[in-house]
Amino acid sequence: MRKTIDLGGMDGAEKGCTDIPRDGDFSFQCAGCGDCCRKRDDIVLSGYDLYRICRRLSLPPEIVIHAFCQKFVGASTHIPVVRLAPRKESGNCPFFTAENRCAIHDGKPLVCALYPLGQTIRTWQGMNPDDPADIEKAVSYFAQDTGCSGEKVQLTLSQYLDGFGIREREPLDIRWARDCLALISRVKGLEKRLRPIEMKYLHRKIEKALYLNLDFHEDFLPQYDRNIDELERILSRLEGVT
Ligand code: SF4
Ligand code: SF4
Repeated sequence: MRKTIDLGGMDGAEKGCTDIPRDGDFSFQCAGCGDCCRKRDDIVLSGYDLYRICRRLSLPPEIVIHAFCQKFVGASTHIPVVRLAPRKESGNCPFFTAENRCAIHDGKPLVCALYPLGQTIRTWQGMNPDDPADIEKAVSYFAQDTGCSGEKVQLTLSQYLDGFGIREREPLDIRWARDCLALISRVKGLEKRLRPIEMKYLHRKIEKALYLNLDFHEDFLPQYDRNIDELERILSRLEGVT
């Protein structure tokens, strides 16, 4: 198992894939073998992914992380990251069952719900993650070549996204991408002048804001917004801005 893997992956352009128009369609082949859940050490979770798994399992984030995940500081992002920890004996995803099924199907992480699609998020200063026009401009989808055989499935992008509730989470995924990008650059700046013990403190606070301080009984967004506001105060203090 790789020691670390960072937030996000390559976007469509980096993978040589073209975006599917919002009103477009795509096709893929799948034989239902389950191999895309085997030998996986690259399922990185967003805070909302973790929250949904917690809600699906009725367990708090600390327990879900302890039982099914691994925490570490990203090698290139330098911020705390959580991923699903593959099973020791098989290397398979911890939620992959002996019957070739996903044990958290309706709470699966975005990267799994999307597959074989990939998602690219481009943010810019002043964008409004709740404005439909900005959302459409910011989020795009591309089809990845699975190399699989099996039944050919042809779908419109809308059908696919709506089937997994992906469109309704776009405002949250945009916030996540925007906030993590900003955080990465500020953490890298702070690293140059904070002592290791202060960096440890900051990592703990980031972990809490992004992943831990979320109660699945309550709505996600108000909690997330509060956490980000609190983190902003901590960052500003450490940067000597306030
Ligand atoms: S997408 Fe490919 S690897 Fe995944 S279940 Fe279908 S055939 Fe198997
Ligand atoms: S969370 Fe579910 S869909 Fe995703 S890799 Fe694990 S078993 Fe497969």
